[in-house]
Amino acid sequence: MADQATEKTRLLVVEDEAEIARVVARYFEAQGFSVTIAANGKAMRELLTREPPDLVLLDLGLPDEDGFAATRHLREHWGGPIIIVTGKAEATDRVVGLELGADDYVAKPFDLRELLARVRSVLRRSQRSHIHDRPRKYRFEGYSLDVDARVLTDATNERVQLTSGEFDLLCALIAQPRRVISRDELLTRLHGRSAGPYDRTIDVQVGRLRRKLERDPANPVLVRSVRGQGYVFTAELSPW
Ligand code: CA
Repeated sequence: MADQATEKTRLLVVEDEAEIARVVARYFEAQGFSVTIAANGKAMRELLTREPPDLVLLDLGLPDEDGFAATRHLREHWGGPIIIVTGKAEATDRVVGLELGADDYVAKPFDLRELLARVRSVLRRSQRSHIHDRPRKYRFEGYSLDVDARVLTDATNERVQLTSGEFDLLCALIAQPRRVISRDELLTRLHGRSAGPYDRTIDVQVGRLRRKLERDPANPVLVRSVRGQGYVFTAELSPW
């Protein structure tokens, strides 16, 4: 057997409750991960530069640092995926954490198998998004989109005037092409809140975007609705 030690996925567990950290570490090591533990925010910052991990599992309730500040620090100084762990089952904490750039969350007490599934899913997603991130310039149906410059031009090279919200919505849809994205996910991502049963914000924005982009807004082909589920970007997308 080849030595696979160097290929192990490195997990950094930021957790001040020693028993939880130990249980998580033991479980993930048995699953083939290499695990480091940081018991506070200071240790996290040190380990981040000394042994850069592939994924951080971050307890929001740290003794020496506000969990949101820790999330922000990770986002600003390190580009990898973050799963936040909340002690309280408060939706607001999760939403704020996701808004600050965490990729997913689990609430204590969590099931280790579920945590493993989340970790694998987030790692898969981040590997995919790294591949998709590189061009940041796309063409679809005659349009050219420059994500970083925030410019969309049509087939005649005319700039399409989008509001900032419409542009962000388009980017959110394009980031996961051919995948149905729920209203709730879009709302959380774009507005930092989850949808109430009668929340029409996303539907209204999609309607506006369609009127600007679709040849026939009544029969959309770029952004389709999936009844009861959400929206999906269905146009052929190519890097530019
Ligand atoms: Ca804690």
